[in-house]
Amino acid sequence: MKFVILRQKGLTRCEVCHKSDQLDPVSGICLRCKQIPHEQLEMAKPIEATVIKPSVVESGLIILASLVCLVISIVSLGIVLGSSLIKLGTRGEETINWFLIKVLILISVFNLSFSLLIRKWCSEECNLYLSYLAVILGKFCSGLGLFTVLIVYLSLYFRYLLWMP
Ligand SMILES: [Zn+2]
Repeated sequence: MKFVILRQKGLTRCEVCHKSDQLDPVSGICLRCKQIPHEQLEMAKPIEATVIKPSVVESGLIILASLVCLVISIVSLGIVLGSSLIKLGTRGEETINWFLIKVLILISVFNLSFSLLIRKWCSEECNLYLSYLAVILGKFCSGLGLFTVLIVYLSLYFRYLLWMP
């Protein structure tokens, strides 16, 4: 099959701006677009994604901290939900187990600071070197930790501290 070119047509409009007002039809140069550097006219190259390898040490620390947080939360909730905060006195009277309450307050302070630290570390601006698992686990455990602290303090406040003489 043969193609016969019947008429060779010059450029009627610029290939870049699709306008003809600044185009020289003989040279095919558009006065408007020739000033744009060639690199800018090229298709934008895809941005090279830099793959950052998660740090094993950092991820390990967060996973460990999360598990500590998880255990503390479970123990705290167990103490709060169990009836061990109240022990029966010799004559069947209820007394408050102040020792256990002190322990609960102490580990809750620890839980709160630990949870906030993990949460900060897993936040978008700080989790660059954390593995996906570490971030997910950290967010879950610190969330549970904060929730537990809230439950512990609310429970202590309403159930025991109001009884103080
Ligand atoms: Zn042009």
